Amino acid sequence: MIAQQVPNWQQQQANAITDLQELLSILQLTVEDLPLAMQASEQFAVRVPRGFVARMEVGNPRDPLLRQVLATGEEMEVVPGYTQDPLEEADHTPVPGILHKYHGRVLFVVTGACALHCRYCFRRHFPYQEYMPTQERYGEALAWLAQQKDVHEVIFSGGDPLSLSDRKLTSLVEALAEIPHLRRLRIHSRNPAVIPERLTPELEQLLGDERWESVLVLHINHANEITDELARRVKRLKAQNVTVLNQAVLLAGVNDSVEAQENLANRLFSAGVLPYYLHQLDKVAGAAHFLVSDEKAVALMEGVRARLPGFLVPRLVREVAGDKSKTPVT
Ligand code: SF4
Repeated sequence: MIAQQVPNWQQQQANAITDLQELLSILQLTVEDLPLAMQASEQFAVRVPRGFVARMEVGNPRDPLLRQVLATGEEMEVVPGYTQDPLEEADHTPVPGILHKYHGRVLFVVTGACALHCRYCFRRHFPYQEYMPTQERYGEALAWLAQQKDVHEVIFSGGDPLSLSDRKLTSLVEALAEIPHLRRLRIHSRNPAVIPERLTPELEQLLGDERWESVLVLHINHANEITDELARRVKRLKAQNVTVLNQAVLLAGVNDSVEAQENLANRLFSAGVLPYYLHQLDKVAGAAHFLVSDEKAVALMEGVRARLPGFLVPRLVREVAGDKSKTPVT
Protein backbone atom coordinates (compact mmCIF):
# COMPACT_ATOMS: atom_id res chain seq x y z
CA MET A 1 0.00 0.00 0.00
CA ILE A 2 1.25 3.49 -0.83
CA ALA A 3 1.11 5.90 2.10
CA GLN A 4 -0.78 9.07 1.24
CA GLN A 5 1.29 12.18 1.65
CA VAL A 6 -0.26 14.89 3.82
CA PRO A 7 -0.32 18.19 1.87
CA ASN A 8 1.94 20.84 3.37
CA TRP A 9 0.32 23.54 5.48
CA GLN A 10 0.27 26.09 2.69
CA GLN A 11 -1.52 23.70 0.36
CA GLN A 12 -4.04 22.93 3.12
CA GLN A 13 -4.57 26.63 3.75
CA ALA A 14 -5.02 27.41 0.05
CA ASN A 15 -7.34 24.46 -0.51
CA ALA A 16 -9.79 25.45 2.25
CA ILE A 17 -13.55 25.21 1.70
CA THR A 18 -14.93 28.67 0.97
CA ASP A 19 -18.36 27.72 -0.25
CA LEU A 20 -21.13 27.23 2.30
CA GLN A 21 -23.04 24.79 0.09
CA GLU A 22 -19.95 22.62 -0.36
CA LEU A 23 -19.46 22.50 3.42
CA LEU A 24 -23.08 21.48 3.92
CA SER A 25 -22.87 18.88 1.20
CA ILE A 26 -19.72 17.23 2.63
CA LEU A 27 -21.40 17.01 6.03
CA GLN A 28 -24.72 15.88 4.48
CA LEU A 29 -26.64 18.72 6.07
CA THR A 30 -29.31 21.20 5.06
CA VAL A 31 -30.18 24.46 6.79
CA GLU A 32 -33.63 26.04 6.98
CA ASP A 33 -32.58 29.65 6.44
CA LEU A 34 -30.17 29.06 3.57
CA PRO A 35 -30.75 32.44 1.78
CA LEU A 36 -29.98 34.33 5.02
CA ALA A 37 -27.00 32.08 5.74
CA MET A 38 -25.72 32.82 2.23
CA GLN A 39 -26.05 36.55 2.97
CA ALA A 40 -24.08 36.07 6.17
CA SER A 41 -21.36 34.27 4.22
CA GLU A 42 -21.20 37.18 1.79
CA GLN A 43 -20.60 39.61 4.70
CA PHE A 44 -17.93 37.40 6.26
CA ALA A 45 -16.74 34.63 3.97
CA VAL A 46 -16.82 30.98 4.98
CA ARG A 47 -13.30 29.56 5.18
CA VAL A 48 -12.44 26.18 6.66
CA PRO A 49 -9.56 23.84 5.81
CA ARG A 50 -10.59 20.31 4.89
CA GLY A 51 -8.63 18.66 7.69
CA PHE A 52 -10.71 20.58 10.22
CA VAL A 53 -13.93 19.50 8.49
CA ALA A 54 -12.71 15.89 8.69
CA ARG A 55 -12.88 16.18 12.49
CA MET A 56 -16.60 17.04 12.36
CA GLU A 57 -19.37 14.47 12.65
CA VAL A 58 -21.21 13.92 9.37
CA GLY A 59 -24.94 14.56 9.70
CA ASN A 60 -24.64 16.41 13.03
CA PRO A 61 -25.77 20.05 12.71
CA ARG A 62 -24.71 20.64 16.33
CA ASP A 63 -21.14 19.49 15.92
CA PRO A 64 -19.07 21.87 18.12
CA LEU A 65 -16.43 22.42 15.44
CA LEU A 66 -19.00 23.04 12.73
CA ARG A 67 -20.85 25.61 14.83
CA GLN A 68 -17.72 27.76 14.99
CA VAL A 69 -17.41 28.03 11.21
CA LEU A 70 -20.93 27.66 9.81
CA ALA A 71 -22.48 30.89 8.50
CA THR A 72 -26.08 31.09 9.70
CA GLY A 73 -29.04 33.41 9.31
CA GLU A 74 -28.70 34.34 13.02
CA GLU A 75 -25.71 36.49 12.06
CA MET A 76 -27.99 38.83 10.16
CA GLU A 77 -30.03 39.77 13.25
CA VAL A 78 -29.36 43.27 14.54
CA VAL A 79 -28.92 43.00 18.31
CA PRO A 80 -28.56 46.13 20.47
CA GLY A 81 -25.14 46.40 22.12
CA TYR A 82 -23.33 44.42 19.40
CA THR A 83 -21.06 46.63 17.31
CA GLN A 84 -18.52 46.47 14.50
CA ASP A 85 -15.52 47.33 16.71
CA PRO A 86 -16.43 46.18 20.23
CA LEU A 87 -12.94 46.79 21.64
CA GLU A 88 -12.59 50.22 20.07
CA GLU A 89 -9.21 49.15 18.72
CA ALA A 90 -9.15 52.00 16.22
CA ASP A 91 -8.51 54.33 19.21
CA HIS A 92 -5.27 52.57 20.19
CA THR A 93 -3.35 52.70 16.94
CA PRO A 94 -0.29 54.98 17.09
CA VAL A 95 0.87 53.82 13.64
CA PRO A 96 -0.89 51.49 11.19
CA GLY A 97 -0.44 47.87 12.22
CA ILE A 98 0.30 48.57 15.90
CA LEU A 99 -2.25 48.33 18.70
CA HIS A 100 -0.92 49.70 21.97
CA LYS A 101 -3.39 48.99 24.74
CA TYR A 102 -1.38 47.45 27.57
CA HIS A 103 1.73 48.57 29.43
CA GLY A 104 5.03 47.15 28.15
CA ARG A 105 3.62 45.24 25.21
CA VAL A 106 2.07 45.89 21.84
CA LEU A 107 0.08 43.96 19.28
CA PHE A 108 1.63 43.96 15.85
CA VAL A 109 -1.03 43.15 13.23
CA VAL A 110 1.18 41.39 10.72
CA THR A 111 -1.51 40.07 8.38
CA GLY A 112 -5.24 40.21 7.79
CA ALA A 113 -5.47 36.60 6.62
CA CYS A 114 -6.62 33.55 8.59
CA ALA A 115 -6.67 29.84 7.71
CA LEU A 116 -10.12 29.57 9.30
CA HIS A 117 -12.92 32.09 9.62
CA CYS A 118 -14.48 31.88 13.08
CA ARG A 119 -18.02 33.23 13.04
CA TYR A 120 -17.66 34.79 16.52
CA CYS A 121 -14.45 36.66 15.63
CA PHE A 122 -14.35 40.13 17.19
CA ARG A 123 -12.33 41.32 14.21
CA ARG A 124 -14.83 40.06 11.63
CA HIS A 125 -15.48 43.68 10.60
CA PHE A 126 -11.91 44.89 11.14
CA PRO A 127 -10.84 47.20 8.30
CA TYR A 128 -7.83 45.10 7.33
CA GLN A 129 -7.45 46.95 4.06
CA GLU A 130 -6.55 50.07 6.11
CA TYR A 131 -4.11 48.09 8.22
CA MET A 132 -3.01 45.60 5.60
CA PRO A 133 0.66 45.19 6.24
CA THR A 134 2.90 46.31 3.43
CA GLN A 135 6.65 46.58 3.44
CA GLU A 136 6.24 50.32 4.04
CA ARG A 137 3.88 49.83 6.99
CA TYR A 138 6.11 47.19 8.53
CA GLY A 139 8.88 49.80 8.27
CA GLU A 140 6.76 52.44 10.01
CA ALA A 141 5.80 50.03 12.78
CA LEU A 142 9.43 48.96 13.29
CA ALA A 143 10.58 52.58 13.42
CA TRP A 144 7.90 53.37 16.02
CA LEU A 145 8.87 50.32 18.10
CA ALA A 146 12.52 51.36 18.08
CA GLN A 147 11.48 54.62 19.81
CA GLN A 148 9.36 52.94 22.53
CA LYS A 149 11.92 52.02 25.17
CA ASP A 150 9.24 50.86 27.64
CA VAL A 151 7.89 48.22 25.22
CA HIS A 152 9.56 44.85 25.86
CA GLU A 153 7.15 42.44 24.26
CA VAL A 154 5.79 42.22 20.74
CA ILE A 155 2.71 40.12 20.12
CA PHE A 156 2.14 39.04 16.54
CA SER A 157 -1.55 39.20 15.85
CA GLY A 158 -3.84 39.40 12.87
CA GLY A 159 -5.68 37.88 11.20
CA ASP A 160 -3.55 34.90 12.03
CA PRO A 161 0.21 35.56 12.05
CA LEU A 162 0.89 31.91 11.27
CA SER A 163 -0.86 32.29 7.95
CA LEU A 164 2.33 34.10 6.90
CA SER A 165 5.20 32.06 5.49
CA ASP A 166 8.20 31.21 7.67
CA ARG A 167 10.31 33.30 5.33
CA LYS A 168 8.20 36.44 5.99
CA LEU A 169 8.03 35.77 9.70
CA THR A 170 11.78 35.27 9.85
CA SER A 171 12.47 38.54 8.11
CA LEU A 172 10.17 40.40 10.51
CA VAL A 173 11.67 38.73 13.56
CA GLU A 174 15.17 39.50 12.33
CA ALA A 175 14.21 43.18 12.04
CA LEU A 176 12.74 43.14 15.56
CA ALA A 177 15.88 41.48 16.90
CA GLU A 178 17.76 44.70 16.00
CA ILE A 179 15.72 46.61 18.62
CA PRO A 180 17.59 46.03 21.88
CA HIS A 181 14.77 46.75 24.37
CA LEU A 182 12.59 43.99 22.93
CA ARG A 183 13.10 40.68 24.70
CA ARG A 184 9.83 38.76 24.44
CA LEU A 185 8.13 37.52 21.31
CA ARG A 186 4.62 36.21 21.47
CA ILE A 187 2.51 34.74 18.70
CA HIS A 188 -1.25 34.36 18.98
CA SER A 189 -2.53 31.80 16.53
CA ARG A 190 -5.48 29.56 15.79
CA ASN A 191 -3.76 28.08 12.79
CA PRO A 192 -1.97 25.08 14.44
CA ALA A 193 -5.26 23.80 15.86
CA VAL A 194 -6.64 23.80 12.34
CA ILE A 195 -3.51 22.74 10.43
CA PRO A 196 -1.01 21.15 12.88
CA GLU A 197 1.59 20.93 10.10
CA ARG A 198 1.92 24.72 10.45
CA LEU A 199 4.27 24.09 13.38
CA THR A 200 7.18 23.53 11.04
CA PRO A 201 10.84 22.84 11.92
CA GLU A 202 11.64 26.35 10.59
CA LEU A 203 9.16 27.90 13.03
CA GLU A 204 10.65 25.80 15.84
CA GLN A 205 14.02 27.22 15.00
CA LEU A 206 12.71 30.78 14.86
CA LEU A 207 10.92 30.61 18.21
CA GLY A 208 13.68 28.57 19.82
CA ASP A 209 16.27 31.28 19.12
CA GLU A 210 17.98 32.28 22.36
CA ARG A 211 17.60 35.95 21.43
CA TRP A 212 13.96 35.67 22.51
CA GLU A 213 11.75 34.60 25.35
CA SER A 214 9.16 33.02 23.08
CA VAL A 215 5.54 32.31 23.80
CA LEU A 216 3.01 30.67 21.52
CA VAL A 217 -0.60 31.23 22.56
CA LEU A 218 -2.88 28.83 20.73
CA HIS A 219 -6.60 29.39 20.28
CA ILE A 220 -8.44 26.12 20.77
CA ASN A 221 -12.06 26.00 21.92
CA HIS A 222 -12.94 22.32 21.97
CA ALA A 223 -11.14 19.06 22.74
CA ASN A 224 -12.09 17.65 19.30
CA GLU A 225 -9.81 20.23 17.69
CA ILE A 226 -6.68 18.65 19.19
CA THR A 227 -4.99 15.97 17.12
CA ASP A 228 -2.06 13.69 17.94
CA GLU A 229 -0.09 15.50 15.25
CA LEU A 230 -0.59 18.82 17.05
CA ALA A 231 0.55 17.25 20.33
CA ARG A 232 3.70 15.87 18.69
CA ARG A 233 4.60 19.24 17.21
CA VAL A 234 3.86 21.20 20.40
CA LYS A 235 6.20 18.88 22.29
CA ARG A 236 8.97 19.63 19.83
CA LEU A 237 8.45 23.37 20.32
CA LYS A 238 8.57 22.97 24.08
CA ALA A 239 11.87 21.16 23.74
CA GLN A 240 13.13 24.50 22.33
CA ASN A 241 12.03 26.28 25.55
CA VAL A 242 8.98 27.84 23.95
CA THR A 243 6.11 28.40 26.39
CA VAL A 244 2.85 27.12 24.90
CA LEU A 245 -0.48 28.33 26.31
CA ASN A 246 -4.09 28.29 25.18
CA GLN A 247 -6.83 30.84 25.13
CA ALA A 248 -10.38 29.89 24.29
CA VAL A 249 -13.61 31.78 23.84
CA LEU A 250 -16.67 30.67 25.79
CA LEU A 251 -19.25 29.90 23.11
CA ALA A 252 -22.87 28.81 23.47
CA GLY A 253 -23.39 25.44 21.87
CA VAL A 254 -19.66 24.77 21.55
CA ASN A 255 -17.99 24.60 24.96
CA ASP A 256 -20.49 25.98 27.50
CA SER A 257 -20.65 22.91 29.73
CA VAL A 258 -18.45 21.70 32.58
CA GLU A 259 -17.81 18.50 30.67
CA ALA A 260 -16.63 20.34 27.52
CA GLN A 261 -14.30 22.56 29.55
CA GLU A 262 -12.96 19.62 31.54
CA ASN A 263 -12.26 17.63 28.37
CA LEU A 264 -10.60 20.63 26.74
CA ALA A 265 -8.29 21.28 29.70
CA ASN A 266 -7.31 17.61 30.01
CA ARG A 267 -6.68 17.20 26.30
CA LEU A 268 -4.66 20.45 26.16
CA PHE A 269 -2.48 19.29 29.03
CA SER A 270 -1.89 15.91 27.39
CA ALA A 271 -0.76 17.83 24.29
CA GLY A 272 1.68 19.91 26.37
CA VAL A 273 -0.44 23.10 26.43
CA LEU A 274 -1.58 24.99 29.54
CA PRO A 275 -5.05 26.57 29.62
CA TYR A 276 -4.56 30.30 30.15
CA TYR A 277 -7.66 32.40 29.41
CA LEU A 278 -11.29 31.63 28.77
CA HIS A 279 -12.73 34.77 27.17
CA GLN A 280 -16.26 35.99 27.43
CA LEU A 281 -17.53 36.81 23.95
CA ASP A 282 -16.71 40.25 22.60
CA LYS A 283 -19.98 41.77 21.51
CA VAL A 284 -19.35 41.99 17.81
CA ALA A 285 -22.27 42.40 15.41
CA GLY A 286 -23.32 39.02 14.03
CA ALA A 287 -22.17 36.90 16.96
CA ALA A 288 -24.93 37.42 19.57
CA HIS A 289 -26.07 33.79 19.31
CA PHE A 290 -22.74 32.66 20.81
CA LEU A 291 -23.15 34.63 24.07
CA VAL A 292 -23.12 32.79 27.40
CA SER A 293 -24.44 34.99 30.23
CA ASP A 294 -22.00 36.01 32.97
CA GLU A 295 -24.18 34.23 35.51
CA LYS A 296 -23.96 30.95 33.61
CA ALA A 297 -20.25 31.45 32.91
CA VAL A 298 -19.42 31.97 36.59
CA ALA A 299 -21.48 28.92 37.63
CA LEU A 300 -19.73 26.92 34.90
CA MET A 301 -16.31 27.88 36.25
CA GLU A 302 -17.31 26.78 39.75
CA GLY A 303 -18.15 23.39 38.28
CA VAL A 304 -14.84 23.30 36.41
CA ARG A 305 -12.87 24.17 39.57
CA ALA A 306 -14.57 21.29 41.37
CA ARG A 307 -13.35 18.85 38.71
CA LEU A 308 -9.85 20.00 37.79
CA PRO A 309 -6.59 20.86 39.55
CA GLY A 310 -6.05 24.62 39.78
CA PHE A 311 -3.29 24.68 37.16
CA LEU A 312 -5.74 23.43 34.53
CA VAL A 313 -8.43 26.02 35.23
CA PRO A 314 -8.26 28.96 32.81
CA ARG A 315 -9.03 32.47 34.01
CA LEU A 316 -12.46 33.68 32.91
CA VAL A 317 -11.96 37.19 31.55
CA ARG A 318 -13.36 39.76 29.21
CA GLU A 319 -11.81 42.63 27.36
CA VAL A 320 -13.28 45.99 28.20
CA ALA A 321 -12.56 48.77 25.72
CA GLY A 322 -10.11 51.22 27.29
CA ASP A 323 -9.09 48.97 30.26
CA LYS A 324 -5.37 48.51 30.89
CA SER A 325 -5.65 44.72 31.31
CA LYS A 326 -8.16 41.92 30.88
CA THR A 327 -11.01 42.10 33.37
CA PRO A 328 -11.79 38.98 35.46
CA VAL A 329 -15.41 37.88 35.29
CA THR A 330 -16.60 37.02 38.80
S1 SF4 B 1 -8.42 32.78 13.51
FE1 SF4 B 1 -8.59 34.44 15.02
S2 SF4 B 1 -8.54 36.35 13.83
FE2 SF4 B 1 -8.97 34.66 12.39
S3 SF4 B 1 -11.20 34.54 12.26
FE3 SF4 B 1 -10.59 33.11 13.87
S4 SF4 B 1 -10.71 34.29 15.77
FE4 SF4 B 1 -10.68 35.76 14.06
